Amino acid sequence: MKNKYDVIVIGSGCGGAAAAALLSSLGNKTLLVEKSRRIGGRTATYEKKGFKLDHGHVLMRSQKGPHGEVLRLAKCKDLIPPFSVCRNWAVKSIIADKPLEIRQNVYSYVLSSKGRQQLGAFGFTPMELANMVRWNLVRRTMPEKKIRRYDHVDMHSYMKNYIDNKYISAFYGGLAVVLFGALDKETSAGESIRMSQAGFKDFLNMGYPVTGEGISAIPKSFIRAAERYGADVELGCPVKNVVVENGKAKGVRINGETIWADSVVSNIGVRETVDKLVGPEHFDSVYVNRIRNLKYSYGGVSLKFALDKWVTPWVWGGVMPDKIENINQDLLDGKVPDTLPMMYISPSKLDPALAPPGKQVLSVISGAPISKNGNGDMDWDLVAAKLKKQVEDFFPGIAESTVFCDVSTPKDISKSTGRAYGDAIGVSQTIDQVGMLRPSKVSPIQGLYYVGADVGRGNVASELASESAISLYRRFKKKQNLLNRFISK
Ligand SMILES: Cc1cc2nc3c(=O)[nH]c(=O)nc-3n(C[C@H](O)[C@H](O)[C@H](O)COP(=O)(O)OP(=O)(O)OC[C@H]3O[C@@H](n4cnc5c(N)ncnc54)[C@H](O)[C@@H]3O)c2cc1C
Repeated sequence: MKNKYDVIVIGSGCGGAAAAALLSSLGNKTLLVEKSRRIGGRTATYEKKGFKLDHGHVLMRSQKGPHGEVLRLAKCKDLIPPFSVCRNWAVKSIIADKPLEIRQNVYSYVLSSKGRQQLGAFGFTPMELANMVRWNLVRRTMPEKKIRRYDHVDMHSYMKNYIDNKYISAFYGGLAVVLFGALDKETSAGESIRMSQAGFKDFLNMGYPVTGEGISAIPKSFIRAAERYGADVELGCPVKNVVVENGKAKGVRINGETIWADSVVSNIGVRETVDKLVGPEHFDSVYVNRIRNLKYSYGGVSLKFALDKWVTPWVWGGVMPDKIENINQDLLDGKVPDTLPMMYISPSKLDPALAPPGKQVLSVISGAPISKNGNGDMDWDLVAAKLKKQVEDFFPGIAESTVFCDVSTPKDISKSTGRAYGDAIGVSQTIDQVGMLRPSKVSPIQGLYYVGADVGRGNVASELASESAISLYRRFKKKQNLLNRFISK
């Protein structure tokens, strides 16, 4: 570590790692500092008793989407990890009260008699099917200018204009929880249309990296790109504070030393940067209040089962119950709901290097609002216990084959990443926090920027984090081009 850099990035989540790759590729002398000994924040992977387990539970648009784009822009396409893609996975799900099982490639499933029979059991009327086609066509072809008009309309009301069917509602409601970590009645329809457009192109390319590194292959590939451009990366190195002098970020304090920089990029969360790293006294009180009142996505409870044999052939799927708001209400009232929404993936089925031979890793998540009144008071032990019971019913025999089951709740996320409430995704994409109302990646302090899911737009979850870094890269590139033009005159 030197004592002066062009750019210091704080945090190695997808947002920070992507920013280090992209900004160093522009020729900036870059330092990335991460408080943990592991790379990746909420996309980190750890090893225990020969099993490799993901900190969260992450599915993403493989080579497509912002993760691939980071490495393409950094001219490190060769570092994009290989992926297994979901169109070929064996899927078992329950939507409302109907099971859906797909054992083959999705395209051939839809054409098969079994596929037609299962889909037919959902009982769509010809009018509903026609409306679904119309709705899909409208979303697929909607130009960005028109999508913006839906930014402050909720997903639920938008869908109801086209179709009112219990199974589609359950699916769409479940999708809002999985993709946006919020109810469809709160989530921006504009953001969901952007995601549908990406989904029409890339949904069947969603996948899981198969490099033996679990999901951390994504942030690690960004770090490799940064190091290729000469960036220094320091792990186990918490930043105590950002040094601000005369309204400008000048560097960071680490272990009692100041490391100077022209720009500081924080990946630790907007609120955490303002309150913990910089100090609210450096900002206007209106800005501080606004940042403190931001709402966050659901928290995730994640169960990681290490199994002593193959318990299930299913790779991916979940449970999308009807009326998620009633389930949330039960949880907020301290009651155990009948069913929780859940999603599972068996990473070792896709990448055998993640478990010892003949053994299996199964990762399951559920989500719920982080709190009743914004202070993180949800009873996560209750959610975890119910989820475990539900998994045992979904996968008979799992309890007898469990070597260990690690439970991660928002309390653990909060402890490991320093985020106030341990939310799974970031600042939520609700109708009041998107478009012009989303926090900007440019802070009011000169030279201080934010990256991460908190400030990403038009994408979901970890992809928001990479998108935020791409957007910051474009800003830096434009500024550097202008400067170069000015110098050459
Ligand atoms: C259970 C669960 C399931 C999920 N499932 C999915 C999914 O299927 N698909 C998907 O795309 N996304 C999923 N996500 C969401 C996704 O993981 C996050 O949205 C994304 O990883 C956020 O990245 P980030 O860059 O914003 O921040 P983070 O990953 O939070 O990174 C911030 C980093 O900053 C570091 N840091 C904090 N303070 C300091 C300091 N003082 N000094 C130095 N470093 C510091 C932290 O240690 C951390 O490494 C899931 C998340 C969870 C928890």
